[in-house]
Parts: sequence; structure tokens; C-alpha cells
Amino acid sequence: MTPPSAKAVVKGKATQTSFIVNVSFAFAVSAYPTEAKKSLNGETGKTLPSGKKYNHAMDTPDPNAERMARFLAGDKTANGAFLAGVLTTGIYCLPACPARKPLPGNVVFVDTPAEAKARGLRACKRCRPDEFYAGRHPDRQRLTALAEAVRRNPGAWAHASDIAAASPWGTTKCAALFRAHYGLTPAAFLTQARVQAATRLLRLPRQPVLEAGFAVGFDSASAFYRCFRQAVGCAPGEYRKRG
Ligand SMILES: [Zn+2]
Repeated sequence: MTPPSAKAVVKGKATQTSFIVNVSFAFAVSAYPTEAKKSLNGETGKTLPSGKKYNHAMDTPDPNAERMARFLAGDKTANGAFLAGVLTTGIYCLPACPARKPLPGNVVFVDTPAEAKARGLRACKRCRPDEFYAGRHPDRQRLTALAEAVRRNPGAWAHASDIAAASPWGTTKCAALFRAHYGLTPAAFLTQARVQAATRLLRLPRQPVLEAGFAVGFDSASAFYRCFRQAVGCAPGEYRKRG
């Protein structure tokens, strides 16, 4: 297979310089499970009754392409969000590792050092990812707890701004953390959580469609139908009928 190559312009934040990297999007998409695909209560990649795959990443760029861009740019803010395994050397690195960047085709992205080790990779001696992860990362823990709270009961969060308000951070940092860890803005994360919760409700027997939408926090029928269709690929009523 010869995946087509696409050119992506990546802006190096630290230096304010732009450079061009070759990113094989086809490879990235086919070889790596995306953050979005494996998120949310293991319901991902589920084949819907319509035969369509649930698409979480509808309104966001492909998270793996984004990871690749951040890795190649040596983005320090990506440290802790994911790890890059280099298949040719058998090591795994923090995204901002100062070592020379490998060819994109030789990189796999994983979420934790344990996952990297399970793939037979060793920790890089330059960026020392294990030490980084062994350190305290209160932000990461708080973010996970916050994200879980949103997923558990999205109806309790009227607006995306409530997420930042409930966090120990300001709006900007909160949004940056969500983007780094989930590849989504808090608003998109909340919408995703609402749609997910709605699909759970709609699988219950005799669940009224509109009530499901309001229960998960949509404030209008039109917003519910639009977001649901965008993410799932069919109307909520259709989903319930087929479920
Ligand atoms: Zn390294």
C-alpha cells in the first residue's frame, strides 16, 4: 500500500518559525486508533444499526495528525498528553524530546508508558518519559476527574463555560488541557458527552426521544437533532427504532 502523502504546515510555537513536514495522513488514520475512537465508555467504533460507524471526530481535525504535527514541532505543551514510540529504535519519547525526529511512518502514538512497554518499547534516555510520568501531574488528574464528571452527567453542565468554572484553571488553560488530552474544545467535548449519553438513553425501552435530548443537556430540539445527526449519522428517533 502506498498511502498518499499530504503536506501539512506546522507552526513551531516556541520559535515562531514555520516549517513544512510530510505527514502521511492515510498512514496515520489507518495505523493508529484515534483518541476519539477509543474514548467514552468503550462505546467507540461501535457499528450503529444503520451500518455506519459512530463518528466522534466529526468537527475536529484527526487527533493523530494533530499529534504528529505537535510531535514533529517539539511542542512542549504536548508532554504528558501522549507518547511517541519509534519503531525503528524501539524507544518511546515525550512529544518534545530534543532527539532528532524520526520519519513519521516509524512512529506510533500511545497514551501511557505502560502501553508503550506493552508494545516492547523502552523509555528514551534523553527525555526520560518515565520520570516525567512518575512526577506529580495534578493537572492531568484533575482534568480526568472533570472529564469523567462531564461524561457521567452531561445534563448537569448547561454551558461549556461551566466546565472551566468548575476547574481550577482559567478558560484558556482549561481549553488548552482539553485540546491536549482529548483533541477537543470543552464545548465539543460537552456536545460529544451529550450525544453519547443520549445514545445510552435511546437504547432504553420506551424512551421518549425529545426527553432524552433535554435530559442530556441540549436546550433545544433543533440543537439535539443537529448534533446527534452530525455525530451519529442519523436522527435520534431513527437510532432508537433501529436500536
Ligand atoms: Zn526522547
